[in-house]
Amino acid sequence: MTYALEWVDWGMPASCYYHSSLPALTVCSRCGRTICSSCSKPYLGLALCPDCFNTRVPRNMGFVTQVPPRYSQPVAPRMISSPPFLTVNWWIPASLFFIAAGLIVFNAIALLSPAFFLAWVGMFPWVGALGYFGFILGTVLGLVIIGGLVLYFLGFQVVAAFLIFPAAIVSLFIGGGFIAGAIIGVLASLLVIFTQRLNL
Ligand SMILES: [Zn+2]
Ligand SMILES: [Zn+2]
Repeated sequence: MTYALEWVDWGMPASCYYHSSLPALTVCSRCGRTICSSCSKPYLGLALCPDCFNTRVPRNMGFVTQVPPRYSQPVAPRMISSPPFLTVNWWIPASLFFIAAGLIVFNAIALLSPAFFLAWVGMFPWVGALGYFGFILGTVLGLVIIGGLVLYFLGFQVVAAFLIFPAAIVSLFIGGGFIAGAIIGVLASLLVIFTQRLNL
């Protein structure tokens, strides 16, 4: 650096710090290195050498006007998909999942009542084959749906829907949460899957 500046002071043609064979036309506004025309990087009205430009200037600042439109496009879908729903309020599927889980668990508990069990076997003969396991199955399915509800609130709406959908179907083995639980669980899952896919 000092070597090149001495040449300038002596009134002799200095060479570019980066290209010894090229004449220096200006001096870097930051470090004072002599630089040729191709090394001079314009920045806020100053002339910077390539090193200063790359290390001191944020990547995109020097080219604010040259940012291509595609730079802004990837941001837009993210902003659109970050709210849980555009067309369906988030609490609608969440409430439906909760109701479905409640109905399925309540259905499972009701199976413990001999009177209900006998009546239920009259409508769904396979419930009799499950016996006491029907209560366990219904409780587990209810917990699976509650787990899906937690995932839903954590932002994994589609994962939650794909977890709750089969759980609601399987619940039909114990009577599907008085049938309504299974239907609500399936419909709410489909609602989430389709609205999320449309938003993506
Ligand atoms: Zn410099
Ligand atoms: Zn140069």
